[in-house]
Amino acid sequence: MPQYIVSVDAGGTKILAALINSDNKIISQSKKPTDAKNGANAVINRIIECIESTLIDSKVKANQLAAIVVGIPGSLNSQKGIVYLAPNLSWRNINVVNPIKKHFNIPTFIENDANLGALGIHQFGLGKKYENLLGIFVGTGIGGGLILNNKIYRGKSFAAGEIGHIVIDPKGAKCGCGNFGCFEAIASRTAITREIKNAIKTGKKTVITKLTNDYDMIKSGILAAALQSNDKIVKKSLRSASETIGLVVGNMSNLLDLNAVVLAGGLIEAVGNFMLPVIRKSAEEVALPQNFKGMKILNSSFGDDAALYGGIALAKEVGLF
Ligand SMILES: [Zn+2]
Repeated sequence: MPQYIVSVDAGGTKILAALINSDNKIISQSKKPTDAKNGANAVINRIIECIESTLIDSKVKANQLAAIVVGIPGSLNSQKGIVYLAPNLSWRNINVVNPIKKHFNIPTFIENDANLGALGIHQFGLGKKYENLLGIFVGTGIGGGLILNNKIYRGKSFAAGEIGHIVIDPKGAKCGCGNFGCFEAIASRTAITREIKNAIKTGKKTVITKLTNDYDMIKSGILAAALQSNDKIVKKSLRSASETIGLVVGNMSNLLDLNAVVLAGGLIEAVGNFMLPVIRKSAEEVALPQNFKGMKILNSSFGDDAALYGGIALAKEVGLF
């Protein structure tokens, strides 16, 4: 009997599920809004519905599944199946594995979405070319996944890679984690949006006011359109976020002497061409020359699929696929 896995990426805005066959090919996909405001149970039910629709669409039976892997944007214990904290879902201490396992009766695993993204990029996007790799995912928040010696580095309590909560400026904006001036509070799309909104409030002219009425979460596509019209306010915010990202990349290079840093996520997908040169320059300014030499800073260009492919890597890691 052919075997399959379902890989799910449960993000802050949408749930994406993919049924993958033993040739590592996605054969059906399903997508639903996360709607985190209705609580954890509702989100878990939608995850189950997404998994079911990938099975129905491809006429595969649940008992043909070798594993289900779910990526979650938060810190979690993959052995216990518990998400400790996922600020973008407003989750604290939620067991995600039990209800899914109970429904399908299939081995089910959770993993931090950025860890899965880094695994997907490392094994399927770049073809294991880089032994030591850091994936930085810039979107609503900032996630990080660290591959050291070709293996995901999880740390003592599975919480490694939380690059978004490195404190850059203790006097900076409040972060979803409760601290002030975290990397993601300064350089995520949320932070960029906040800065543009403040500029609009103080009467600065920007094309954003013509492109959208919603200044609370300006979409990456809108930022890209504003960039195309050479908007000064948007350019300034993106440049400033890129400089901060570069600072972190340079510091990580000093600490870890990496082969590659891969930038990914919605914001990078939309405006990476503008951001990457600034990131490189600002990284070079703080990196030790020996560490920086030969370190690639790449745009993932893997889109939404990185974490889904990471699910394959995880299922293989536990010997189920
Ligand atoms: Zn934080």
